[in-house]
Amino acid sequence: MQMKKITSQKTSPVRILPFLLGLALVAPSALAANRDFAACLDRLRAQATKQGISKTTFDTHAAKIEPDLSVLELLDSQPEFKTPIWDYLAGLVDEERVADGRAMLEQWRDVLRRVEERFGVDPATVVAVWGVESNFGRSLGQRPLLVSLGTLACMGRRQDYFRGEFLSTLKIIDDGHIAPERLTGSWAGAFGQTQFMPSTFLRLAVDFDGDGRRDLVDSVPDSLASTANFLNRGGWRSAETWGFEVRLPAGFDTSVAGRRNKRPMSTWIGGGVRLANGEALPAGGPDRALLLPAGAKGPAFLVGKNFDVIYGYNAAESYALAIAHLSDRLRGGGVFRTPWPTDDPGLSREERRELQRLLIARGHDIGAADGMIGTRTRRAIAQEQQILGVDPNGRAGQRILEALRSMAGN
Ligand code: CA
Repeated sequence: MQMKKITSQKTSPVRILPFLLGLALVAPSALAANRDFAACLDRLRAQATKQGISKTTFDTHAAKIEPDLSVLELLDSQPEFKTPIWDYLAGLVDEERVADGRAMLEQWRDVLRRVEERFGVDPATVVAVWGVESNFGRSLGQRPLLVSLGTLACMGRRQDYFRGEFLSTLKIIDDGHIAPERLTGSWAGAFGQTQFMPSTFLRLAVDFDGDGRRDLVDSVPDSLASTANFLNRGGWRSAETWGFEVRLPAGFDTSVAGRRNKRPMSTWIGGGVRLANGEALPAGGPDRALLLPAGAKGPAFLVGKNFDVIYGYNAAESYALAIAHLSDRLRGGGVFRTPWPTDDPGLSREERRELQRLLIARGHDIGAADGMIGTRTRRAIAQEQQILGVDPNGRAGQRILEALRSMAGN
């Protein structure tokens, strides 16, 4: 979802030049790469035909694509900056997203009620996924899906996987669910309001507004129902919560922590675990596991099956916790009782934008103050940290924000 700013395919060095110009101007390796790509597309065309996708669909939308090498860089890039979980959550579950989510619950109340009736997943959970995946449909990703997936299907180290996703995209177009020009997404092919991969779309997308098309780009009812269908098929238990925050007694043996290590509630009660507000844990109920996302000194949670189901949407515990926590906030719940173990907490999106405005005012060229902390913002932060004589790690946290505020006289 946050990949949209990286170079477009227009800058790709492997452009297929007109034949007459080609021989003199293009390096032999680039020519070979172009030939390989064209041959790969020919093979994909044969496979598509075999799967019943019309030749017209392929020839109209896929035959002339040019590879976008920037997606290969993203496939192999290691994040140079490891985001602490408190930064991750501060941006995903901020007051702005809670307010937006509550407005969406209100706006789509009737649809969400029918979605819950049919799939057994409550409105707050569905809206929380929507909010984290695409900011309620506002951030869909802007890369043409067939270009990204065509490139990844023919180049790089996961071609088998992406070949399937490329063919699934063609199938979606061939079946008339979504117009080809609306099929844009992340560099890796997640698209629409639910950020499904194309193969996930074919398995789980639902037409809920009854127009005969499964449209996860422009139909909110289809998107909400498809999210609920995904969770339902993952084993969602309607009568259970995802879990809750707890408090551990002093000296608690944290080696039992781990999402897969589910134990009966009696075990946790016997070990002295209590609800975060200090009250006793509910006795009985399903087995739960102890989650310590920031170690023994940070917030602790007991999580159940539904946490695993959310995890299935995007395999990261920090992601599942963001959805779970946002859903609680949408139901009126508060922030975590135990603070994150840091003396420099993370920033909301509004605070990120403020930080960027302060950096711009000090002459840093970081583009627009959009709240996205990219390489240029980090570099500017590191320069300011250097001036302040603190570790120039480039991290956007409360401390640098406060320092810049006071330098600006705010
Ligand atoms: Ca529909």
